[in-house]
Amino acid sequence: MRILVTGGAGFIGSNFIRLLLDNHPDSRVVNLDKLTYAGWEHTVADLEGRSGYRFVQADITDRQTLERVLSDGIDTVVHFAAESHVDRSIVGPDPFVMTNVAGTHCVVEASRRAGVRRFIQISSDEVYGSIPPGESAGPDSPLQPGNPYAASKAGADLLVLAAFHTHGFPAIITRCTNNYGPWQHPEKFVPRMALSALQGAELPVYGDGLQVRNWIHVEDHCRALLAVVQEGVPGRVYTISGGDSLRNLDVARRILDLAGVSVARIRHVEDRPGHDRRYALDDSTTRKELGWHPRISFAEGLPTTVEWYRERTGWWKPITESESPLSSIG
Ligand code: NAD
Repeated sequence: MRILVTGGAGFIGSNFIRLLLDNHPDSRVVNLDKLTYAGWEHTVADLEGRSGYRFVQADITDRQTLERVLSDGIDTVVHFAAESHVDRSIVGPDPFVMTNVAGTHCVVEASRRAGVRRFIQISSDEVYGSIPPGESAGPDSPLQPGNPYAASKAGADLLVLAAFHTHGFPAIITRCTNNYGPWQHPEKFVPRMALSALQGAELPVYGDGLQVRNWIHVEDHCRALLAVVQEGVPGRVYTISGGDSLRNLDVARRILDLAGVSVARIRHVEDRPGHDRRYALDDSTTRKELGWHPRISFAEGLPTTVEWYRERTGWWKPITESESPLSSIG
């Protein structure tokens, strides 16, 4: 396989490239990433010099660079690059529209014209909006995004599906629940809670903290994506879900417990505007058709993740110190 990965210096993309090269050492991977505040060269420093790996720093709206990279025999595109933080999309939605909507359009058009054999759009459970208790969203559920990030992802998904319907562009969409694991930016919920707990700081939790999210270890998500790359059917949407649905407050409590810190450190702060109450996916079709299922439970994956952050001060400290302050809580 000759794969173009966009956004491969970010959290999920970098984990995906490692898994891909470990499982398919003959693959050739181009990682195209702008290196925004969320993408960091140190996240992929271990990949430099690895056979079959090449990094290109570029914006996905740069059509010329995309065309040049794609013309080098790329047969598959896995499109991760995005502005990914909901809080930032509320404070300033412009880059979300530019990258997630216009940028996805550029990647789709360049890939279509280059004649790639497969295109995977990495999307999110957030496009379905808040799901009432007892219900879950499946691949064909209506899109009801509740914040600018989710709306920009939904817009991108519609452009991808339109290219499939209009041109037979061999595109597949995956929509996954909340990921956690190594290399996730410190502004996101699990790292934010873990770093606060490890540093003895307060853990800020939005509102009553009873919002429900489904958690999947990033390695399980990436294994599902490898299956989609190999066996997914163009035109289809694959939902991907972990085994554990938890309230944010309970995740914060578990992290405090792992760090050996009192729950008194939790501080309830004003809720995020438009905060979706509950996300839930039905991924039974994905599991049945791809023979995939998550292997890492939250009870197993959370301690190793907290431990990873405890040991990787050298990775996250420079990020937190260089960050523009945004009072984000994941
Ligand atoms: P991330 O923020 O960690 O990484 C995004 C990467 O994209 C960064 O390396 C950044 O530099 C790059 N990027 C941003 N704008 C770019 C541009 N204009 N041109 C080129 N590169 C650009 O995000 P993540 O958590 O790894 O998410 C990856 C994808 O998965 C996103 O599309 C996101 O919507 C989706 N997703 C994430 C989750 C989750 O829980 N993190 C869940 C479901 C879906």
